[in-house]
Amino acid sequence: MAIEIINTGSELMLGRVLNTHQQWLCRQLSDLGYEVTRQTGVPDTAEAIESCVRESAQRADVVISTGGLGPTSDDLTRDRIAALLGRPLREDPAIVAHIASWFDARRRPMPASTRVQAMVPEGATVLANPNGTAPGLIMDARACRTSGRGDAPCWVIMLPGPPRELRPMFTDQVVPWLAQHLPLAELCRTLTLRTTGVGESAVEERLRVPLREFLDRGLDLAFCARVGEVEVRLEAKGEAQLSMLSPAAERAREALGSAVYGEGEIDLETTVVRLLQTAGKRLALAESCTGGLLANRITNVPGASTVLVGGWVTYADEAKRAWLGVPDALIAEHGAVSEPVALAMASAAASRSGADFALALTGIAGPTGGTAEKPVGTVWIALAGPGRPRAQRLVNAFDRPTFKWVSSQQALDMLRRELRGF
Ligand code: ATP
Ligand code: MG
Repeated sequence: MAIEIINTGSELMLGRVLNTHQQWLCRQLSDLGYEVTRQTGVPDTAEAIESCVRESAQRADVVISTGGLGPTSDDLTRDRIAALLGRPLREDPAIVAHIASWFDARRRPMPASTRVQAMVPEGATVLANPNGTAPGLIMDARACRTSGRGDAPCWVIMLPGPPRELRPMFTDQVVPWLAQHLPLAELCRTLTLRTTGVGESAVEERLRVPLREFLDRGLDLAFCARVGEVEVRLEAKGEAQLSMLSPAAERAREALGSAVYGEGEIDLETTVVRLLQTAGKRLALAESCTGGLLANRITNVPGASTVLVGGWVTYADEAKRAWLGVPDALIAEHGAVSEPVALAMASAAASRSGADFALALTGIAGPTGGTAEKPVGTVWIALAGPGRPRAQRLVNAFDRPTFKWVSSQQALDMLRRELRGF
């Protein structure tokens, strides 16, 4: 089965918005075992959208378009595809009611222009949009096929542009629709293990021998390195391989040990929040070089309020002194980026907040400020808890945003390991 993706949006052509739909949709589809055979980006013009959809429909069983379903004059996807397929549009009263209640819930007046989003092409399946106003649409697109491919299916699935609308709509509605209308001949399952603290080659090295017997029998193993973590993906195709997935994952878990922090879509901050919840423990933060990123990541997790007491962003020396009581002498003797200062920050954050654990970070993000002894990228991360506070020194010589991300990742991992008893 061939799937083509068409990302519409002049902002994509201008480089103002990164085309994340392309990557995200391909990832979801390939994890399910579907094959994406072509991806195209086009500007928001009637001509570009029409010609691209017509072309893709000659080849593909499914054409997925993204963007252009909104109420503004550059949102042409619904109109142009309906016209291409010769389908008239009719207003759907249920969608008008949804749009009205969406604005009502936000105490905002409903602009008249938004009603256009309730126009549904004849014969289309409507995909509800609980996170926005424009619904998605699925249409039979065989009408625009000119080349003879018999009665082979051809569907066009139109999804809205904003990622927070597109993603749940795809997962909750398009995936079940695909399973029902275009089931795969061969079952495909993937399993992803998430690791941190070990580099990509080391992860691969650790798995090579333990997984050999599974790989020899056809199981697929892939790695994806991101900043601060490596994803290990096992893929089984067909009945015979399916039964290998669990034992192979078990073997991989054993080989990777404490490096595995989760399975599937979970991230490290969610893992840590869940571990704190299970343990009934609370956390406080004292951040210098990460500038609040750690607090930001933790508060992105629903339920963070049950485990996070709060935190200090003590960037300047005087803030470390005034708000956390780090002694002047300690800073003068060892410098702000040092083990004793990191330990003092963590201990103060724990005792002043009453939290069970506290994480503290102090480092040199660069590009200036490094010395031979403390090069750019040096960071001290301290953890205070029920036992003696301890600290580790790492050198994350990256650009500033990456330095902050990796350091926050290492701090989260330090706490994860503590909570897991590693
Ligand atoms: P809206 O109702 O917001 O107008 P829409 O369905 O008309 O939604 P677009 O106008 O094409 O969609 O895009 C809306 C926003 O969604 C864009 O400004 C952009 O921020 C984001 N977006 C669109 N396409 C992509 C993409 N391919 N990758 C990432 N983000 C995108
Ligand atoms: Mg729009």
